[in-house]
Amino acid sequence: MSRIAILVPGKIHERVLERLKDRFEIIAVPREERLALDGETAGRIRGVAVSGAFAGAWMDQLPSVEVIASFGVGYDGTDVKRAAEKGIVVTNTPDVLNDEVADTAVGLLLNTIRELPRAEAWLREGNWKPGTSYPLSRFSLKGRHVGLYGLGRIGLEIAKRLEPFKVKISYHTRSRHADVSYDYYRSLKGLAEAVDTLIAIVPKTPQTHKTIDADILAALGANGILVNVGRGWTVDEEALSAALASGSLGAAGLDVFYEEPSVPSDLLATENAVLLPHVASASVPTRNAMADLVADNLIAWFEKGAALTPVPETPQKAKRD
Ligand code: NDP
Repeated sequence: MSRIAILVPGKIHERVLERLKDRFEIIAVPREERLALDGETAGRIRGVAVSGAFAGAWMDQLPSVEVIASFGVGYDGTDVKRAAEKGIVVTNTPDVLNDEVADTAVGLLLNTIRELPRAEAWLREGNWKPGTSYPLSRFSLKGRHVGLYGLGRIGLEIAKRLEPFKVKISYHTRSRHADVSYDYYRSLKGLAEAVDTLIAIVPKTPQTHKTIDADILAALGANGILVNVGRGWTVDEEALSAALASGSLGAAGLDVFYEEPSVPSDLLATENAVLLPHVASASVPTRNAMADLVADNLIAWFEKGAALTPVPETPQKAKRD
């Protein structure tokens, strides 16, 4: 019996291919505007494993596709509306990366507040000599009021990790959580006015676009710290650069940018920012777990008719049932 064909457009974690290659026929193609597939091959493809965006136009090329397994928890690059219209299930990799991303967020917060990367660079540049010391950091985590913009799977893990730091914790989401004792703010502006430290961990959606704008940054103030581990899409980077340059915002720690991998030169030039190349989940163990979940979603779909972690916007069950 011929094996089910799985499309892999562009690069994906090696372990996904390792896990799938014995059960499925893997069809690997480069990422191009139109996938380089003849009609017969395209018609045989029933599943997809993808890291990064998956366009609606690609779905149009694949008449038999049932499931698209996306690597990562954010699936903003996949056209879920088109997938839902076509009855295609989209899966992501939630939960297995919560701890890693939350740990990174706390590390980035500390690095930003205490300038640890700059202090290390100062040492490595040979500046630590008898009688010299690195300047005192302007800020401290002690006594801060941290606002979480997003209190989902990852936001909640960040909040739990911050509790032992003895900071006050508040949050803004669209709906209040009944099961936490943190103060809730109905609006992002209200949260920004109340706190001095804002951690953004919301998805890329039309509603979150550039919501951290000049107004929000001004509300955080000169003692204010912004950390973004969600999506660069959420931040008005021009306003952020201006606020950092003028000192109207204290400092920023960013793992994500608006147009990755391009980082605005103004941000690169800013001393009071810690900039990371989207590494929040990027450890070997966590990326392995994410790769396993991509493979397990495809296996579960084709063996049991239900994916393990389907996104809410697309069907949850096999049409063939
Ligand atoms: P969840 O879906 O579990 O949580 C999302 C949170 O955002 C919820 O609390 C939700 O609350 C809130 N939210 C969504 N839309 C809005 C809005 N318009 N206004 C206010 N709050 C909003 O997602 P995860 O915690 O798993 O992941 C969050 C995002 O983090 C991912 O979508 C991804 O983009 C990003 N991410 C980045 C990583 C990195 O490498 N830097 C790694 C992993 C994730 P409510 O619905 O009540 O508004």
